[in-house]
Amino acid sequence: RYLERIQQREPQVRGYLTVTAEQALAHAHARDNRRAQGEDMGLLMGIPIALKDNLCTQGIPTTCASRILAGYQPPYDATVVERLTQAGAIVLGKTNLDEFAMGSSTEHSAYQITTNPWDATRVPGGSSGGSGAVVAARECVAALGSDTGGSIRLPASFCGVVGLKPTYGRVSRYGLVAYASSLDQIGPFATTVADAAIMLAAIAGYDPKDSTSIETPVPDYLGALAGLPATQPLAGLTLGVIQETLTEGLDPEVAQAFDRAVAQLESLGAQVMPISCPTFATGLAAYYILAPAEASANLARYDGVRYALRVPAADLLGMYKETRGQGFGREVKRRIMLGTYTLSQGYYDAYYLQAQKVRTLIRRDFDQAFTQVQALLSPTAPAPAFPIGSKDNDPLSMYLTDLMTIPVNLAGLPALSVPCGLTMGGLPIGLQVVGNVLQETVILQIAHAYE
Ligand code: GLN
Repeated sequence: RYLERIQQREPQVRGYLTVTAEQALAHAHARDNRRAQGEDMGLLMGIPIALKDNLCTQGIPTTCASRILAGYQPPYDATVVERLTQAGAIVLGKTNLDEFAMGSSTEHSAYQITTNPWDATRVPGGSSGGSGAVVAARECVAALGSDTGGSIRLPASFCGVVGLKPTYGRVSRYGLVAYASSLDQIGPFATTVADAAIMLAAIAGYDPKDSTSIETPVPDYLGALAGLPATQPLAGLTLGVIQETLTEGLDPEVAQAFDRAVAQLESLGAQVMPISCPTFATGLAAYYILAPAEASANLARYDGVRYALRVPAADLLGMYKETRGQGFGREVKRRIMLGTYTLSQGYYDAYYLQAQKVRTLIRRDFDQAFTQVQALLSPTAPAPAFPIGSKDNDPLSMYLTDLMTIPVNLAGLPALSVPCGLTMGGLPIGLQVVGNVLQETVILQIAHAYE
């Protein structure tokens, strides 16, 4: 049924780069047979899912939506893919993204433009726009994305679905093609908070193959949702509204929807107070120094010798130049240049080191906030989904879309986006709930009680 749905919806949505229909059917039948023989059912037995195309899948193209990886088939599965498959999930395909996850609209894909299922003239958000769109269009039950500066939460908000970025280190990054390694984290998209909790339960946990993976037991996320009291489920919780996110530039309809969401959380028993995170607004500037710096180092490996694309030239240096020149898109080149510049001798102290200090200050702001509240609230994005093409030639205004989501990555915290209404024009709006380190359970409970 989902494969039929893909056939119906894909001509417009274009969220998948690869659909693995045959393998999916073969897996589904094999699972069915094993179930008929009474074999143990995994947490996700038979559940059709999609994967962002920067997650390595053995023998299935993994392109990062870049020409430089056209046709590349990894020799191994990412840990998250292994875990989902072990839990019984059926992979339907790989989803579109901004090239190497650099962007906020999925327009920077080298292959296709994904449209927002609510309004095909608008972007689905990014960089995991394909995953957000195919979940919203019901072309799979759930999907995985990656979030370096908001790339799960933003498309979730634009597409009207739930998106969760776990604590840095909660989910193994092994097999996730690196963008900015100190910020990258994998997480789920789903249509309900409970489904997102199930997906997280399947992928979370220590992995010796990722040296930044946290060695702490994974709590029973789903049980925590089931255990919420029926009345006043949020009694005893204090939530903070981040004042710095409610300033100029916030779309009036987003502001209204956010206020209504806060009122509803209060009616569910939560106490709400204003919280100031003074350094929050500096997050964007720090991020756009740090992320390109890490990216410029990570992307050095695409040299035409390893991996997919090689453009022949007279000598080795020429081959590097041609391959990288033709293989990378505009935005990726912009990031590589920015990153190489800020890491170069003489500029390192002025830019990179300063940005690292700002990162520490942001972390302290959050630490301070969490001495008073159990979770923080903000809109996920300053405005709803924008028209395709409207920011394409204006990188700064595109970067501003990430204002609310980026500080969370700099501090390594868990956060989710849950739908909180529609604009008059019928576009989804998202509520962001941010938790303290490893407090995924709390933010899932808040969002579950709310939705
Ligand atoms: N939009 C941000 C960027 O372009 C965040 C992307 C992400 O989280 N992968 O870097």
